[in-house]
Formats: sequence, C-alpha cells, structure tokens
Amino acid sequence: MSEVDEILNQLTTEEKEKLMTKKVLITGGGGFLGSWISETLLALNTKVYCLDNFSTGVRRNIERLKNNKNFYLIEKDVEDFETDETFDFIFHFASRPAPDDYVLHPVETLKANSIGTLKMLELSKRSNATFVYASSSEVYGDAEIIPTPEDYWGKVNPIGVRSCYDEGKRFSEALCMAYLREYNLDVRIVRIFNTFGPRLRADGAYGRAISRFLSQALEHQPVTIYGDGQQTRSFTYVTDTVTGILKATASNVARGEVFNIGNTEETKIIDLAILIIELTKSKSKIIFLPPAKDDPRRRRPDITKAMLKLKWAPKVSIEEGIKRTIKWLRNQNF
Ligand code: UDP
Repeated sequence: MSEVDEILNQLTTEEKEKLMTKKVLITGGGGFLGSWISETLLALNTKVYCLDNFSTGVRRNIERLKNNKNFYLIEKDVEDFETDETFDFIFHFASRPAPDDYVLHPVETLKANSIGTLKMLELSKRSNATFVYASSSEVYGDAEIIPTPEDYWGKVNPIGVRSCYDEGKRFSEALCMAYLREYNLDVRIVRIFNTFGPRLRADGAYGRAISRFLSQALEHQPVTIYGDGQQTRSFTYVTDTVTGILKATASNVARGEVFNIGNTEETKIIDLAILIIELTKSKSKIIFLPPAKDDPRRRRPDITKAMLKLKWAPKVSIEEGIKRTIKWLRNQNF
C-alpha cells in the first residue's frame, strides 16, 4: 500500500467526501508537508493550486504531480500572490521551518507568517473558503507544562533568535481568530510538532534533527548534537501528521479550533542519535556542538483534544518511521 493510500484509509467516508473534487490552494505546496498534502488531495480528484517560491521547497517534491491535469504550479512569494480565482480550501503552509535556516532569514520568515497569512485570510474571506493554518509547537516556546495541551499559553522570548518563527506563528494564530470573530470565517489551526519522513531536507541549514542525523549516519560522518542531547522532541511520522491535518480540515467540529498534531512518544536527542546510528548500522561517532540558542528543553504534546474531536492518533512509531525514511533515502524515489 502506498503511503498516500495509508493516509486516505484513515479518513472516514464523510471526511473524504468533504475533500473530494474541490479546488484548493496550498501555499508551500512544494515543501515537505505541502507536497504530501497536495499528493493526497490529488488522489481525491481535487484541483490543487500549489503556490511556492522554492526558497526551501524543492522542485523534485512535486515532479511527479506536474503531469496530473488537476495540478497547477504558481511560482511566487505568498505575499505577492494576486488572483481572481476562488477556492474551497486554503492551506497556508509556506514558511521556512528549520531553525538553523530561519534564523538567517528572520524578516522573510516573519513576512510569510504575517503578511502572507493576512493575504491568504483575505482570499479565504473572498472565496468563502475554509482556511487551514500550519502553526507549530513553537508557539509554546520552552513549555512549562509537559505534555502540553492547547490551552497552555506558551513561554516565548519575543526578541530571541527564534522569535521570527515563534511570534510569526503566534501572530498568525491571532489573525485567524480575528477573522473568525469579525468575519465568521471558517478557520482551523493545526499546531504541528516535529514531523519527519521522506522529502524532509537534510542539507545545509535546512536540515532538521532526524533528516540531518540520517544523512550523517548513512555517510558515516559525525552526528552533530547541539548541547548535551538531553533536550527532547516528540517526532511524528509524516503520514500521521498529514492524516491529522486533513481530519482537522474536513471535520464537522473543528471550525475555529486549534489542535496539537504530534506523537506523544518523547525522545531525547542523544537517544535519537544512538537509534539512528544503530538502524543505519553506521560507523559514525557522536560529536557535541554548542547548544542552539533558546532551544526548548522538552517538547511533548497532549493530544487528548485531537483524539476526542478528530478521532485521530498517530499510528507509526519513531523507529518504524525512521526505518521507512531510511528505505526512501536509499531509493530516493520522490
Ligand atoms: N539538533 C541537534 N543537531 C542538529 C540538528 C538539531 O542536536 O544537527 C537538535 C536541536 O538543537 C533541537 C532538536 O535537535 O534540540 C530538534 O531540532 P530540529 O531542528 O529538528 O527542530 P526544532 O524542534 O528545534 O524546531
């Protein structure tokens, strides 16, 4: 079974009908999550307009979608996008997501998550579309409540190096809720926790912990841990993440709601490095580099709300997800 089929199998008939033969716009449609969402919606015979400037997304992600008659690629910055078209759903997923990368592009990151969000909300209002915003566990910052529920307000440094991302996501959430309250727009917010799988970039500043460690281990290069490696993350395999996002999009009870979408299995970064070295049978050594600035110490979602309202829970363990990603890396069939 393909991974897209695996996602579709987890949606109810009613959820699939909601998403079928529609017209959607996905900003960041060439990115890691955007390309997976695009592919899944195309399988439901939906027209997908993919808006991407390929600042971090890669063309190979959407190469095989390009021949689909329902796929339209628009290469532009989200802030500059103008259109007369209207849509049934708008997914705003355009943003640089990798900390090492967004700290080098703070203004662009803030623009995508402020002006970009505003433009997409306006387009949703004109279209009478459902608006789905890709928020992040980063809105909680260095959370004091673990596992973290949606009603925790967060502990974020507004002037820190990560603030371009954290505060951009927080501002966008506020803007979504303002459009709900003032214009009764159907908005849905997903707070996505660390997600991984095929197509997640590993190169340069774009690399995330799992993708970078995997590429380092497969090449028998040192695995680079920032700090002591005692910090934790809860890693979610992409099929689970996309299933959660699409359930939040199609649900009858998700209007104006925010959901944590993440795995509850919490992993120390040092243990992640050891697991990856084991699973790849690598000769890599672990090296410890200076800690990343304002790096949250622990991250683990409380997903009770998504379990109750969306009937969603992750199915793929971190180990299984890493094995699948290794298989993909060895074949590289985008
Ligand atoms: N990390 C690391 N080495 C790397 C990349 C990341 O030790 O080469 C750590 C990083 O400091 C953080 C965790 O792994 O504590 C997750 O980092 P990632 O960039 O994947 O996502 P974040 O959750 O920080 O946005």
